[in-house]
Amino acid sequence: MPIYEYACRQCGHTFERLVMPPATSAEVAPCPSCRSADLERVPSRLSVSSEASRQANVQRARKLGTKEAREKEVADLEVIAHHTD
Ligand SMILES: [Zn+2]
Repeated sequence: MPIYEYACRQCGHTFERLVMPPATSAEVAPCPSCRSADLERVPSRLSVSSEASRQANVQRARKLGTKEAREKEVADLEVIAHHTD
């Protein structure tokens, strides 16, 4: 679920909001500091959650790589077996 960072144009307060897609500015809660709805969505920085999911992808890729390597070993053994026939 995306977390967007918002900046208040009235007081400059920045805060994060968990937003259900599709997100519109009308669905975003007002500034927690001054209650203004005049908000600007700022490009999100690398959050902890996205960093964690990126690391999960790397770990999944490593697992896939290990599985492929194992399957290649099996294939090589089959080639050897056919050679001895
Ligand atoms: Zn504000």
